[in-house]
Amino acid sequence: MPAADLLVIGGGITGTAAAIRAAEAGARVRLIDAGVNAGSDANAGSLHVQLQSRFIRLFPEQAPNVEASLPLYLAAVREWERLEALWGPFDLVRKGGLMLAEGEEQLRFLEGKARREAARGLAVELLDRAALDRLAPWLGPQIVGAELCRDEGKLDPLAANARLKARAAALGVERVAGRVVALTAAAEAATADGARHRADRAVVAAAWGTGALLAAFGLAVPTRAEPLHMNITEPAGPAIGHLVQHAERSITLKQFGTGQIVIGGGWPAEARGPGRVPGVRAASLLGNVALAARLVPAIGGLRVIRTWAGMNTTADGKTILGPVPGAPAVTVAVPGDAGYTLGPLVGRIAAEVALGLPATEDPAPYGLARFSA
Ligand SMILES: Cc1cc2nc3c(=O)[nH]c(=O)nc-3n(C[C@H](O)[C@H](O)[C@H](O)COP(=O)(O)OP(=O)(O)OC[C@H]3O[C@@H](n4cnc5c(N)ncnc54)[C@H](O)[C@@H]3O)c2cc1C
Repeated sequence: MPAADLLVIGGGITGTAAAIRAAEAGARVRLIDAGVNAGSDANAGSLHVQLQSRFIRLFPEQAPNVEASLPLYLAAVREWERLEALWGPFDLVRKGGLMLAEGEEQLRFLEGKARREAARGLAVELLDRAALDRLAPWLGPQIVGAELCRDEGKLDPLAANARLKARAAALGVERVAGRVVALTAAAEAATADGARHRADRAVVAAAWGTGALLAAFGLAVPTRAEPLHMNITEPAGPAIGHLVQHAERSITLKQFGTGQIVIGGGWPAEARGPGRVPGVRAASLLGNVALAARLVPAIGGLRVIRTWAGMNTTADGKTILGPVPGAPAVTVAVPGDAGYTLGPLVGRIAAEVALGLPATEDPAPYGLARFSA
């Protein structure tokens, strides 16, 4: 007798969303989570839609995969809005995202990027300095223009995580602490403490831990852990409504409803080995906040009250979503770049695929055949 109808491996935003969707459909769900280095517990709460310049610069070979996925980002932000209406508030604000240019070359780069994004259905436009002065007068004088993507936004991830975990618990999702070390095609999982968990189906939403679990199925899924840095300041008066990024430099900057400024955007942190939370690098702390103060001089006098590091997951730029070839009882759910934005939608679709329900969005473009040997 299976212990559950569905096993969910990984309890970040993706696994939690999958568990909620399955439990709402009447499935008995057991969620197993290793309890360490969830990107969902460390992230910045940016709802990304436009192509991130950081990603294009660092992983140019993967940029076409992200570009092809842009419609999924639009749908993902709508999914966040749906969830907030049902289970919020998460302090979700969708006033758009600005990607700043500090010179003509960066502006030309943004123009080309905006053309490609508009062709994929995104609401993007280029703003000159006069338009920016009306919209965002707090920007530094050296900013010559920006791309505005009206679809972007921000939310408070601590509030969202707490509320969605509470929703899963209220639906009867059983949350078990443990690290899955083996998974079979029959959806039987073994954890490091020797326990075995049986179900009819399994969803693997284990982010950086996914590749190791799928090797047994002959798949080479390149999920890698990427330690990243974050900062948050003391509260300031309300001013910054947009998500702010830069055409060339790594940064995201936004203001929460509390007035605090959250500064991150992909500065590196220090890996400290498996199972350990990454450490903060002083150079990332200083570089990240110095850049923020250059772009938005008014925040230069604020004190940073907390700084932390968390584990992001990278693969090939594209969401990994669908059944394992040859093992249809196992469905994989690893969101692509900006995985907190995508997580709820990807988890929801994974549960639908696993349970044979009509899928909210077509998962076909994100299937696992691309990783078969
Ligand atoms: C500092 C930082 C800032 C970020 N900011 C943003 C942002 O602003 N916007 C955005 O969209 N994205 C952001 N991201 C990315 C985003 O946080 C992640 O992509 C997203 O949270 C992934 O969610 P997930 O549920 O798929 O995985 P995770 O939240 O990483 O959860 C995976 C879980 O699986 C568990 N696990 C792994 N292996 C096993 C195993 N074998 N057995 C059991 N459990 C296992 C882990 O312990 C973890 O709890 C950021 C990431 C970081 C690190």
